[in-house]
Amino acid sequence: MSFIQTQRQVLLATRYRLLRLNSTGNARLFSATTASVKRAQHISWHHNRRKLYGVAGIAFTGAVLFSTIQDTDGQAEEKGDRNSLSKIPLSKLISGWIAFAFCSSPTWVDLSENMYNFLSHIPILSSVIDAIIMRTFFNQFLGGESILECIPKIQALRQQQIGTLLGYNVEADLNGSRKDPQLIAQQIEHIIASIETQGKLARQFWLQASSTGGDNRCWVRIKVTGLLPDPTALYHGSNAILQRKRERGLDNNVPYPGLPQDGDWEAALGGVIDVDRLQLMALRSTLETIASKARENNVRIVIDAEQTWYQPVIDSLTDELMQKYNSLDGPATCIASFQAYLRRYPVLLDQQIKRADEKGYKLLFKQVRGAYMVSEAARWEKEQRAGPGPVWATKAETDASYNYGIRKTLSTVAEQIRRDGHSRISVVFATHNSNSIDLATNVLEEEGLARRADDDTKLVLSGQAAGAIAFAQLYGKPTILPVDSINMATYLII
Ligand SMILES: Cc1cc2nc3c(=O)[nH]c(=O)nc-3n(C[C@H](O)[C@H](O)[C@H](O)COP(=O)(O)OP(=O)(O)OC[C@H]3O[C@@H](n4cnc5c(N)ncnc54)[C@H](O)[C@@H]3O)c2cc1C
Repeated sequence: MSFIQTQRQVLLATRYRLLRLNSTGNARLFSATTASVKRAQHISWHHNRRKLYGVAGIAFTGAVLFSTIQDTDGQAEEKGDRNSLSKIPLSKLISGWIAFAFCSSPTWVDLSENMYNFLSHIPILSSVIDAIIMRTFFNQFLGGESILECIPKIQALRQQQIGTLLGYNVEADLNGSRKDPQLIAQQIEHIIASIETQGKLARQFWLQASSTGGDNRCWVRIKVTGLLPDPTALYHGSNAILQRKRERGLDNNVPYPGLPQDGDWEAALGGVIDVDRLQLMALRSTLETIASKARENNVRIVIDAEQTWYQPVIDSLTDELMQKYNSLDGPATCIASFQAYLRRYPVLLDQQIKRADEKGYKLLFKQVRGAYMVSEAARWEKEQRAGPGPVWATKAETDASYNYGIRKTLSTVAEQIRRDGHSRISVVFATHNSNSIDLATNVLEEEGLARRADDDTKLVLSGQAAGAIAFAQLYGKPTILPVDSINMATYLII
């Protein structure tokens, strides 16, 4: 692949991310973080509508200065923004300003692809344009073009008591296109290399993780749709799971796509044709390889939540991995992702807490609002399904669902600590919404999991709750640290 093509992938990946940030207000990460771009050589990005992105997140563990206790939302946000912006080098602020000024104009964002296509064919000028893109958009939102390039950023963040989540993913749409199996193999190699790198860095940075429940805050993120050649297998497998539930009268009152139950995986395998079954079996074995590599390196893996029509298979695999790799007597490796914008979320959360209790494993999950609102509505309409779609009809309902998650989870953590002296739940609140962050920090206090110290300027998380609570945000967007805290993790995404 030529250099120009490679750069074009970078532009497209970045552009997709900007479009998402801009058009839906969500912060789903579209980045080409790790070794991906140079090696994903055969993707015809635009035509296949594949999106290449990666994640790196961050955690902090020690004391960091916190200068605001909020009086009003606006003031708090402003102070928080000022605080985080003051730590950013001027060059980065300027490139960030250019990137955000650009993406605040939908017209410019829409024009960017055609402009880039045109300019990239003009010798010399194309190199100048590429250099500008790499120093502005790419640098604003992405960790690097290779794992090696990400390392200085990871180290700099760690200096601020912030750990890192690293990832590279290819995601797929249900548009009939298949991914080259070689690309899948490369994708898996990247994930394994990310795990090994994070493991190595964790051993350097975080020798003793017992004070944080075994979490060294070096994580790797994976997207399941990027791990098999044709996502149709996930769609068919998910339909087979739903069909079995209908036949057995399970989940009758649970909004689409239902809840993970025993027997889902077998239903998926039993209800699809051979070619899909082979893909699903290969997918499972890939996930096992990734999870055991993560366990070996004491690195946690985050399994992202995706579109609802894939989710029953993703739920069932995540559920099985949690049971196997998050046992009560060992370290915990697998983190699920739950989307609060789904109507099913409050019921799902209650069921997951109960299920982990009954089956005896640690429940680790990331709570997000959800990134696929537009495509969820479109598919619901296309498939002419009855009833309201899977996503809440209003933002206020999504917010209420997210808030329910905060309260329910933290009260359960507190209850487990009171009863057993420790919690079997670890939650990551992934959000840029300052109201959610405020609510979570307030509930931490209400539940006796944290207390204010040093004239209210610091939040000290109790030793038992350390490792159970974290926040996650995206690199490139202004960071709102929840509060200057001791023992609590904040993850920023790079
Ligand atoms: C660290 C991290 C990891 C993430 N991982 C995932 C993931 O695995 N899967 C995933 O799907 N997303 C993921 N996201 C993206 C996330 O789901 C949100 O899209 C994004 O964070 C914006 O939500 P917010 O809480 O930050 O901000 P807010 O601005 O408060 O919320 C925006 C969100 O509200 C919801 N919303 C907006 N309007 C409406 C409406 N009219 N009706 C109903 N709901 C509405 C949507 O979910 C929208 O994304 C991740 C985000 C972060 C920061």
